[in-house]
Amino acid sequence: MTGLYIHIPFCATRCSYCDFYSQTDSALLSDYVEALIREMHLRRGEITDPVGTIYFGGGTPSLLSPRELEHILDEACRLFPLSSDAEITLEANPDDLTQAYTQEIAALPINRISMGAQSFRDEDLLFLNRRHSSRQVYEAVDHCRHVGLTNLSIDLIYGLPEQTPARWQDNITAICSIAPPHISAYHLIYEEGTSLTRMLRTGKIREVEEDVSLEFFCMLREQLTEAGYEHYEISNFARPNRHSRHNSSYWNDAPFLGLGPSAHSFDGKCTRRANVADLRRYLAAIAEGEAPYSKEILSANERYNETLMTRLRTAQGLPISLIEERFGAKRAEECLQAVAPFVRNGLLVKQEDGRIRLTERGIFLSDSIISELFIV
Ligand code: SF4
Repeated sequence: MTGLYIHIPFCATRCSYCDFYSQTDSALLSDYVEALIREMHLRRGEITDPVGTIYFGGGTPSLLSPRELEHILDEACRLFPLSSDAEITLEANPDDLTQAYTQEIAALPINRISMGAQSFRDEDLLFLNRRHSSRQVYEAVDHCRHVGLTNLSIDLIYGLPEQTPARWQDNITAICSIAPPHISAYHLIYEEGTSLTRMLRTGKIREVEEDVSLEFFCMLREQLTEAGYEHYEISNFARPNRHSRHNSSYWNDAPFLGLGPSAHSFDGKCTRRANVADLRRYLAAIAEGEAPYSKEILSANERYNETLMTRLRTAQGLPISLIEERFGAKRAEECLQAVAPFVRNGLLVKQEDGRIRLTERGIFLSDSIISELFIV
């Protein structure tokens, strides 16, 4: 199965923490839709297997009108072999999910909504410069459910400055009361070039203490597990059979084609393509009939590091047999030696079936553990 990622690089406003490629001037939006379709035509040969997932990500894909979404989906279905049970996800901002909008998109083949709620507390939303209120999140959920869009994923952000366990508990309680089939929760990251990072550097805000972050993470994990969610990837929780199939295919090295500026593609073996992260250069390349990407062939070491990175982030862990199959018995032996100190420290566990997994304590330190296992 192949995944199709469609990037929509437009946002109505800029959130204070975000460094994704997008712009707030939507004057080029309709030209962009046509360019996306031309890119599909240009790159149709890159997809031969059935497309099992389509993901509209951004940016803010819910800035597209239902007609524009329909146009893109019609062309995708015409050009690519779409599996009959394909998962088709639209990332959406809660304030775009009005009654009228949800009614119209429910008539399209979109069958999953990933909603950027981020918090159920209005002060947090103001601080993050989100353009919606907590009330709009509840309304958006109701609108989606009313028209049968029940396969919902909701994103939360935690680890905000001044956030206390009681305030974070408000968010956990709220998400549990909504009980969406899928929840993604990310720790706030101070990315270069964002207004939050500037506030941090000038001393206007302070990062939350690491032990408090750990407490937030444990609260979330414990209460969602208790509520019947599987913690199947470091930042992702799902009800049974409601994992994100699109994101899971990234973690399982499945091929995917990414369309739009800054989108990445992978052939499932060793070739990555990165589209130019600039809307005007992207539009110019497409107008000339040129592929808008640079290509990179991953070395064996880079593929090994990626395998560790993606597999260890999942609850299923890293099968040592996979390392042996892909990189040989010697590399599998070296991998076992490298993980041994972490197993002794209780940060990784080696299961009887030969899988290596992060322990509960290890999950929170995953980035540093995994980077220490990398081959440089
Ligand atoms: S977080 Fe989402 S809505 Fe906000 S600026 Fe980034 S891409 Fe746009």
